[in-house]
Amino acid sequence: MPGFELFGEEERSEVQEVLETGVLFRYGFESQRKGVWKAKAFEEAFAERLSVGYCHLVGSGTAALQTALAALGVGAGDEIIIPPFTFVATFEAILNAGAVPVFSEIDDTLCLDPDALEAVLTPRTKAVMPVHMCGAMARIDEIVAVCKKHDLVLIEDACQSVGGTFRNKPLGTFGNAGCFSFDSVKTITCGEGGAIVTDDKDTYLRADAFSDHGHDHLGENRGLDEHIMLGSNFRISELNAAVGFAQLRRLDTIIGIQKRNHAAIQQAITKIPGIQLRTIPDPDGDTATFLTFFLAEETAARNAAKALAAAGVGGCPYWYDNNWHYYRQWDHLKQMKCAAKPPIVFYPEAPDYAHLHFPKSDSLMSRAISMQIMVGWSEAELSRRIETTVNVLKEYA
Ligand SMILES: *Cc1c(COP(=O)(O)O)cnc(C)c1O
Repeated sequence: MPGFELFGEEERSEVQEVLETGVLFRYGFESQRKGVWKAKAFEEAFAERLSVGYCHLVGSGTAALQTALAALGVGAGDEIIIPPFTFVATFEAILNAGAVPVFSEIDDTLCLDPDALEAVLTPRTKAVMPVHMCGAMARIDEIVAVCKKHDLVLIEDACQSVGGTFRNKPLGTFGNAGCFSFDSVKTITCGEGGAIVTDDKDTYLRADAFSDHGHDHLGENRGLDEHIMLGSNFRISELNAAVGFAQLRRLDTIIGIQKRNHAAIQQAITKIPGIQLRTIPDPDGDTATFLTFFLAEETAARNAAKALAAAGVGGCPYWYDNNWHYYRQWDHLKQMKCAAKPPIVFYPEAPDYAHLHFPKSDSLMSRAISMQIMVGWSEAELSRRIETTVNVLKEYA
């Protein structure tokens, strides 16, 4: 799955070009940089690849989420609906905006359940942030419909699903903005990096300004442009952007190999009675970074995950026990362990994060195992993995 598996001469030569100019900063220095603009080049190539109007790169996926929230006018006290199966960055970005994460159940896509959204709407609801988990999509068309009906902002957290599509439309382009991560365990990497995409010019300009202390980037130089808002420093460096620019050219190759490996394993395990696959609304648009399946009940799933690891089939997370990705283990959120005072001002009806219940999500997550799909497996490794996986799963299914 990760871009770090495929890394070589193209990345090195892109970085070398930047080093030769000596300009590591993405703005300004026109005369010194000799026409080398790696962040801009990546942004243009990524926007073109996604057939979207604008792309703005930032320093991480987390920064992309926070920048998108700010650019779309999400602020103090606004409620943002997110799933309890995601990465901690999703709620951190919302809390750091002074806004309030409101969790809503997932369905068997392991993403936000569109049918559950209306039950958690309040007059404070400002946005919905579905997360396309583990390389594949939510029922995004139905989520779009709910957002339109209730006039809500839609921000897709597509950090794990770069290159994914739903009915041929790229994930991240269904709402007001889409966010991507290029950290070192995502499909392609910048080392650290993230992107916001949007079709709305104003949203793009606000994202560009927010991520660089509010600079509008219109003046002759940095000293002469305006601060159109308070912002922060979420900039990406030219070095990181250069790596990502080379990686982007590998994206189709990476997804192609993942799909082939994924299909081979999937074909073998679907023959096992009692194994049920995660629902993928459009299998053609799955980037196949993971193969996720359900066992009949929690104990069987937990034991099967352990048995896979013991049998040498690594990279099979049991997310229900994982403290990065599922609500159950987010003790720091439950106890609101903040560096100082909590970033949000709570109001009487705010969620009590310590005592939320997600019976439907629990029932799915407690039975789910994911298998990370690697690009570098040899044919022999893949066959061995399939054989061992089938043998282990037969015992627990
Ligand atoms: C990785 C990830 C992020 C954050 O990306 P970083 O680049 O690591 O900050 C946000 N959301 C999800 C779902 C992710 O998987």
